[in-house]
Amino acid sequence: MSVLIFADQFQGNIKKSALEAVQYGSKVAQQLGTQATAIVLGEVSADELASLGRYGASKVLHVADARLNELETGVGVKIIAEAVEKENADVIVFSHNFSGRAIAPQLSARLKAGLVAGAIALPDTSAGFVVKKNVFSGKAFANVNITSAKKIVSVLPNTFNVEAGSGTAAVEAFAPSISDADFKIKITKVETVSGEVPLTEAEIVVSGGRGLKGPENWGILEDLAHALGAATACSRPVADAHWRPHHEHVGQTGFTVRPNLYVAIGISGAIQHLAGVNGSKVIVVINKDAEAPFFKAADYGIVGDAFEVVPKLTEAVKKYKG
Ligand code: FAD
Repeated sequence: MSVLIFADQFQGNIKKSALEAVQYGSKVAQQLGTQATAIVLGEVSADELASLGRYGASKVLHVADARLNELETGVGVKIIAEAVEKENADVIVFSHNFSGRAIAPQLSARLKAGLVAGAIALPDTSAGFVVKKNVFSGKAFANVNITSAKKIVSVLPNTFNVEAGSGTAAVEAFAPSISDADFKIKITKVETVSGEVPLTEAEIVVSGGRGLKGPENWGILEDLAHALGAATACSRPVADAHWRPHHEHVGQTGFTVRPNLYVAIGISGAIQHLAGVNGSKVIVVINKDAEAPFFKAADYGIVGDAFEVVPKLTEAVKKYKG
């Protein structure tokens, strides 16, 4: 028995959310008195692979196949299922990021394994395998006991502090039985927006709502985001009106973010918006209406006109950072 963790990469770098999953899986392995093995797909440097030891993995299985540089879900499921068998893994851990959300449920069906998606605590293994997760958009918790022999857990990103230790991992080449016929799609181009901090991995998010009046005013928000080294986000009506791209929309029907700091500018704080941001560690709200519901969820609030407050805040941040 062992714990297997899927550590996904983007352009050769292991994602921060994957490091969090490796750390989580390694702690589960310690609890169960067994070893943690990470699996990495695609071309990744030897140093990057070995660095997973610093997050608790004792072994890394590496499938160094260039066809896997951009992940195709079906192929990923097949490879991880084979690795589960090879490693005799009873617990399989993912990040609840894009790839984890796509692969974990399919693997669960294939292995007939119980799955808890979006874990926010280590499992309680004193009586079963009980994993805590958010339900009802973060308004309540559920403790779910996975009773099947094989158990899958995906870890809600930005839930645990990721801390590098001094461990080392042995890297082992793994050649699963996949062929060209397993690849059903071909990714022809991957476009990234240059200079942008990826929203779901960001430690700080600066987000704007309808209170900013129009897309031409987003400069003040971008200046603040730039000064803070933050990603930018928006409320749904802003994306619906095409003031900002849809990949910035957070909330119940958009992305869920859990940064260390979420700055909401000109956003009322509707329940559907809060559902995607209320896991943030610190929330700062800037709104000219003192009665805006967002203030109830805020750690710090500034009642004022965004067009006056935000530029001043940006100047203060720049001054502070020198
Ligand atoms: P408004 O509600 O119009 O609020 C604008 C705020 O700006 C106000 O509080 C106002 O006081 C303030 N303001 C105005 N001028 C200034 C100024 N000069 N300076 C400072 N503050 C100012 N919404 C989401 O965001 N994400 C979702 O995923 C989402 N999913 C939904 C799903 C469903 C099924 C439904 C029904 C709705 C969903 N919504 C979602 C919409 C949600 O209910 C709200 O309508 C939306 O969040 C409001 O966006 P807003 O706060 O930007 O705009």
